[in-house]
Amino acid sequence: MGASSAAGSAKRSPVLEQYVRLHAEVPDCVLFFRMGDFYEVFYDDARLCSELLGITLTSRNKNDPEPVPMAGVPYHSAEGYVARLVEAGHKVAICEQIGDPATSKGPVERKIVRIVTPGTIVDDAALDAGHQPWVWAWAPGQHGVVALAALDFQTGRQLVGTFPEAEAAERVLAGPIAELVVPEGVDLPEQLERIPLRPLPQERFRRVDGSAALGGLHAFLTEAMARELNHLREPEQMAAYGRFALDPRTIRNLELFRNAWDGSRRGTLISVLDRAATRMGSRAIEHTLRFPWLETDAIDGRLEAVQALHDTPAVLEPLREELRSVGDLERVIARLSQGTVTPADLGTARDGLRIAADAIRPRLAALAPERFREIEGVLRDAGPLVEELLSDLAEQPPRTTREGGIFADGVHPELDRLRELASGGARELAEIEQREREALGLSSLKVGYNKVFGYYIEVSRAYREEVPAHYHRKQTLTSAERYITDELKQLEERILGAREQAFALEESLWIERVTAVRSAVPRLQALSDALAEVDLLASFAEVGRKRRWTRPVVHEGIETEIIAGRHPVLEDDGSFVPNDSRFDAEHRIALITGPNMGGKSTYMRQTALIVLLAQCGCPVPAESARIGLVDQIFSRVGAADALWRGQSTFMVEMIETADLLSRSTGRSLVILDEIGRGTSTWDGMSIAQAVLEDLRDRVGARVMFATHFHELAELGGRDGVVNLHPEVRTWDGKVVFLHQIAAGPASDSYGIDVAALAGLPKPVLARARILLGEREQVEARHQPAGRQPALPLFDSGDDEVARRLRQLDLDNITPLDALNLLHELRGIAGHNPAARSAQDRRDE
Ligand code: ADP
Ligand code: MG
Repeated sequence: MGASSAAGSAKRSPVLEQYVRLHAEVPDCVLFFRMGDFYEVFYDDARLCSELLGITLTSRNKNDPEPVPMAGVPYHSAEGYVARLVEAGHKVAICEQIGDPATSKGPVERKIVRIVTPGTIVDDAALDAGHQPWVWAWAPGQHGVVALAALDFQTGRQLVGTFPEAEAAERVLAGPIAELVVPEGVDLPEQLERIPLRPLPQERFRRVDGSAALGGLHAFLTEAMARELNHLREPEQMAAYGRFALDPRTIRNLELFRNAWDGSRRGTLISVLDRAATRMGSRAIEHTLRFPWLETDAIDGRLEAVQALHDTPAVLEPLREELRSVGDLERVIARLSQGTVTPADLGTARDGLRIAADAIRPRLAALAPERFREIEGVLRDAGPLVEELLSDLAEQPPRTTREGGIFADGVHPELDRLRELASGGARELAEIEQREREALGLSSLKVGYNKVFGYYIEVSRAYREEVPAHYHRKQTLTSAERYITDELKQLEERILGAREQAFALEESLWIERVTAVRSAVPRLQALSDALAEVDLLASFAEVGRKRRWTRPVVHEGIETEIIAGRHPVLEDDGSFVPNDSRFDAEHRIALITGPNMGGKSTYMRQTALIVLLAQCGCPVPAESARIGLVDQIFSRVGAADALWRGQSTFMVEMIETADLLSRSTGRSLVILDEIGRGTSTWDGMSIAQAVLEDLRDRVGARVMFATHFHELAELGGRDGVVNLHPEVRTWDGKVVFLHQIAAGPASDSYGIDVAALAGLPKPVLARARILLGEREQVEARHQPAGRQPALPLFDSGDDEVARRLRQLDLDNITPLDALNLLHELRGIAGHNPAARSAQDRRDE
């Protein structure tokens, strides 16, 4: 990109020379080159921007034999354009004028002040569209471990941790992530290559706070920002004390932030849970789901606070209303640190802090829980901070710093004096206009101003013979003439002088002010954290009220009892059937057998989600819930159910299973859904059984294990394994799923009934019933003693149709496959040679 196509140009103007030289410092960026009130782009950048941003492509020195392509955007609206380029995958370098144009000979001095990348962008439109500016860094260490660091650029929150490579890759992928800083030439796991990578020389990964990854991250940021950031917080361990980092595959399987079908927020837990009034609140909710608590005190403290809000609508409702007008303090803080803060941003902060001080804090005083005393304590600083740093800002400060209007009248005497001068002049201008109109008898005469010519009197051409001699012509337009008079000239000098001085004074006051506010960033962060927590509490209370959720009891034992639990997302459907979930020290494993579509997966997921919500200090969708604290939730889905991820291989399933066996403990909750599906029945069943036995005998975790291998139900009823099944009824020859989880193993696979539901033709179903009956007889004859599950074997005729039917896995057939099979069977039965040979070919 960039200036490459300019390389051959023989003679360039000095400005273009400067441009080409600066662009060479950032060859992989689009260079926004400040010229007065515009950022200009040249050469290839100009073509690119014109195409991507829909801005006009012109050229500099049009009359040259080789005009230079050029495009530009006004500096005050550049942010949106920059964001669009970054979203399209480009990096943008911002180059500002450093020197004073009035005193420089040749081009004014310019400097690249920052590089905008996806991980460091805090543009309103992008953030409103859900963009999450997180930068991660990856630093491989010894023995296959990788140090990770992650930064939420908005909040300044930093996380660090060291993990085995596979787990590190999972964490990175689970995000949120906008870009990944890596050592140059490093070997990365393949899945990571789709993330925008930022290679840095190995030696830039110097340890910071003991972490090479953090060092790399800071090196990258310092380069991009060309400054030290001052909103970064103390790094936290990814698995910090008092919290655990929720397993990334669980985050995906439980569809916390993205759904499984299109990756959007629809149908996710967060879409139900996030009723926050501010973006700070939304971020706090997401953070708590990713890092649930491990301590009952913290959980109880939050639950108590949520309950108080839940029970006091007279506080909750106005509070949420007030929060809505608080604005996003975290965003303002990020922009302060980044050096892009505008007066309008500080105006937002001031208004938000005033609401916090005058409305929100007094409201919390009405609530008893201790948590609110802590929050009130922090919010006490809101008023003083406004008084010290923000109270002299204008009512509605502008987005730019160059044209005044930043500070209110009546607070800076010198500024007031200059403004008075400037506006006094404006009154005189109006008087001159009025007087000259009357003197000349021309009602269309007007006094105007433009940047090039200054103040003028404009008279339409038709009357140009009538102007008096003391009018000096200044500019000729197609339909009008513009004049200057001595009086106007003097007035102009006074007005412009005062205005310019006022602007300059405001600009310098502004620069001082930003420095002062930047040093107050830790105070601002404490305030924004407190407001985020209030918003989170209010959101939890609101969801709890609207959905009639209940306050769970979380304790340090194992015993867990959820009465009439619901799936937080699916409960919306009016016909949802609630179910109980139970574990205690003697009964740690629930083995759920039953046909597809019975409700096994839903039941297990709702249990995991209720435990997760409880450990975030959130009400839960159940009649009552007593939860024994868990230290991790592992949710794994057998390969066949994970097809949507495009990772259908049995290998992936087994890697996931190995990972969970090595990481789970006696405190973990393990959800295994149809493990062993990705391979042949015999392998799959044997592996499933061995995994279950290992979890039971060695790990001792609480486990929910759903399987369509009915044979595994043999394991139930003893050794802490409880058999469960979704109830299914047949009604009028049709199968009805009740979605009610009942004790005991599934009595029948109902596979043939499901096949009937799917439209498998009657003769095929009838034949399948005969075969099933025969199989059951064989099983009865060979019923083994001991725990070995019976091996289901067909024993039947040897014709082709029967052979094909024997191969049929009724539990796992799709309607389309059933139809195809039927087609084949009819071909075979009718001795259709074409069908037969097709089948033979496939058998080869
Ligand atoms: P399985 O895992 O046994 O195949 P699923 O959990 O996938 O079954 O559920 C199958 C269907 O039944 C889904 O469409 C789901 O929405 C519905 N379902 C599951 N549990 C319930 C319930 N408790 N109440 C109402 N509908 C349910
Ligand atoms: Mg299922």
